[in-house]
Amino acid sequence: MKNFNSSRVFSNNVKPVNPEGDYVLYWMSINRRLHYNFALEYAVAWANKLDKPLLIYEGLSCDIPWASDRFHQFLIEGIVESVEFCQKNGFNNFSFVESKPGQGSGLVDELANNACLVIADEYPVYIIKPYNRMMSRSVNVPWYTVDSNGLIPMKTSDKAPYSAFIFRRNMQKLFLESFRNPPQKDPLINLKNRSSITLSDEFLNRYPKLSTTTDIPKLVASLQINHEVKALEISGTRQAAWKQLMDFAENRLLKYAENRNNVENGAASGLSPWLHYGKISAFECVLAALEMQPADWSQDKITFQQGKRDGFFGGHPAIDAFLDELITWRETGFHFCHQVHNYDKYESLPDWAINTLDKHSSDPREHIYSFEDFEMARTHDPIWNAAQRQLVREGIIHNYLRMLWGKKVLEWTEHPRIALKYLIELNNKYAIDGRDPNSYSGIFWIFGRFDRPWGPERPIYGNIRYMTSDSTAKKINLKLYLQKYSTF
Ligand SMILES: Cc1cc2nc3c(=O)[nH]c(=O)nc-3n(C[C@H](O)[C@H](O)[C@H](O)COP(=O)(O)OP(=O)(O)OC[C@H]3O[C@@H](n4cnc5c(N)ncnc54)[C@H](O)[C@@H]3O)c2cc1C
Repeated sequence: MKNFNSSRVFSNNVKPVNPEGDYVLYWMSINRRLHYNFALEYAVAWANKLDKPLLIYEGLSCDIPWASDRFHQFLIEGIVESVEFCQKNGFNNFSFVESKPGQGSGLVDELANNACLVIADEYPVYIIKPYNRMMSRSVNVPWYTVDSNGLIPMKTSDKAPYSAFIFRRNMQKLFLESFRNPPQKDPLINLKNRSSITLSDEFLNRYPKLSTTTDIPKLVASLQINHEVKALEISGTRQAAWKQLMDFAENRLLKYAENRNNVENGAASGLSPWLHYGKISAFECVLAALEMQPADWSQDKITFQQGKRDGFFGGHPAIDAFLDELITWRETGFHFCHQVHNYDKYESLPDWAINTLDKHSSDPREHIYSFEDFEMARTHDPIWNAAQRQLVREGIIHNYLRMLWGKKVLEWTEHPRIALKYLIELNNKYAIDGRDPNSYSGIFWIFGRFDRPWGPERPIYGNIRYMTSDSTAKKINLKLYLQKYSTF
């Protein structure tokens, strides 16, 4: 595998390839797409090397944290689309949706132990990382994971970036090399051995295959998951992701810098749900954005800026601003969580933040709310309540309000540790882009991660950056927003 981009591959165990295996197994667990996917590309390369067919496995369990109609419906829509693609184009695919906890146990082991080796997705948070490590110990074959998460391979950071500035400096050094070694658009086209794989009837009785004619809402309603977090209108398919990207590139990208913070007619991309489930690759988003650069722009304009944001891409300021969010801010979180194993714990905050929060932890609070008060949007603040209702109804909060939403939970709980617990639970339970490295970047940013101390020192916040609903209301026009989210 010498030709492959080795900075993206992780070997999780030392076990010999099983030459008698029936296939090479690709377990598509988070970057759930069949295009622009380094892991799939690596799996195809192995299948070609061993002259074996490739089996693409996609599954969904019931008892994963925060499983609900919202995430299951979105994911199953995407899985069905991938199954259809494989069936139409003659690729081996097996997809399974667990209907009650435990039904799928042993499935991946069984598929893996009949394989020559396994390729899976490398991902720094949620259950995926521990699952990969655990499975690599229990199976009899090599278990590789491949980082197809972003532009800059996570392996290139040898320590956690403590600020976006630090990561950006690294990114600026590595961007061109990474950009010029992109994932293949259609890796399956190179697959040589196309023979079909037959899974036994006994296996398929135990683990029934997801059918493309499934009535998805009916299936979701029958699963043992949380049905209170409702499914959304948006579709979890790659086609929907692509439509969102095109619409953004054509209609909003050039206004991004100016209008991103507008709540009405804002210019944000709205891509985070599909980026989270890997339905679209960050590479494709970068390509689409660079396509919109002025005619005289070329890669020669890209100039190292020592980590400063402005001037790096040297093109339209709105495109530069979008790429900074998409690459610097998004990937700072991936690289951080990859290095810091307690990324979701209070103790992972910088020392200055822990010290200042501790110093102010017994300051009197004017308002203290319980988790249920927050969840049911029962605070005194109409802006906060509207943001929470948007989260519950639509699975998203506008970025600017999301910051305010988080800061106020810090202010209105007994202790920052409790605030952190509430925020992780609210975000990951309801946000369609939740359970992502960005979830932890955003939530921990509220408490000082990737930020610096701010003065003057204030009650509760200490030197943590402070935000108020009044100043937010002055900055952005919230009239229609408040009307729209006045009820659940
Ligand atoms: C309290 C809090 C919780 C958050 N939880 C999440 C979450 O669960 N999932 C999530 O994806 N983002 C989260 N964010 C970050 C940010 O709010 C979203 O990434 C952004 O609003 C998504 O909308 P968009 O796709 O239209 O972004 P755009 O502005 O169009 O940006 C494009 C992409 O860049 C990345 N990006 C943009 N802003 C940020 C940022 N501040 N930090 C990291 N990456 C960024 C995202 O991948 C985004 O999809 C959170 C922020 C806060 C303050």
